Amino acid sequence: MDFERLKYFKQYLNTIDSVLKGYFEEQKEYICCKRGCAYCCEKGQYPFSEVEFDYIMLGFFKLSKEEQIKVLERVKSIKEEYEKADDKKAFMYRCPFLNNEKECSIYDFRGIICRTFGLLTVGSNEKLKVPFCQSLGLNFSKVINQEEKKIDEELVKKYEYKNQPKAYCIDLKNMTDPEIFAGKAFEFGEIKKLIDWF
Ligand code: SF4
Ligand code: SF4
Repeated sequence: MDFERLKYFKQYLNTIDSVLKGYFEEQKEYICCKRGCAYCCEKGQYPFSEVEFDYIMLGFFKLSKEEQIKVLERVKSIKEEYEKADDKKAFMYRCPFLNNEKECSIYDFRGIICRTFGLLTVGSNEKLKVPFCQSLGLNFSKVINQEEKKIDEELVKKYEYKNQPKAYCIDLKNMTDPEIFAGKAFEFGEIKKLIDWF
């Protein structure tokens, strides 16, 4: 493990954490995230770059032996399901780091997308992406037009929100663009689905 690279990555994470904190604060009227709510970690693919995965593993090695074994058992059973899946590209699974208390066992070491779960985002194609949990009555659910998956301005007025809902361009491509965020101190490396890193 390249600890020098991880040191720079940690500095980068501190930067994006403070940027994202500002976004969550600005959008707090629409956000329901709280400890123990983990639908966003129940079903997904969790794409992480190489440096993120190394950092996640740093968190993994800090877990107790018992917890490490539990994570590895979860990984093993996901891998077994993955092998059997007809459509591997679309294969979704519960993140193996989500513990039985529905908390992230490596929270401080979690990946970049994990830090953005719950925000309204916009891709480089300018297409709005609503958090999936709005369909569960959670983030932004009160102001989303369900048919068009768009913000309904009338609902924003109706519920008298103070701030307009705002979408941020924080997909992994943008967040890992060294020109924007990281300088040239380290490279992110290849991006793969979490299960493919094991
Ligand atoms: S993003 Fe949605 S599912 Fe995830 S913690 Fe926030 S409210 Fe819960
Ligand atoms: S690493 Fe943690 S926050 Fe990210 S998907 Fe897994 S359990 Fe959720």
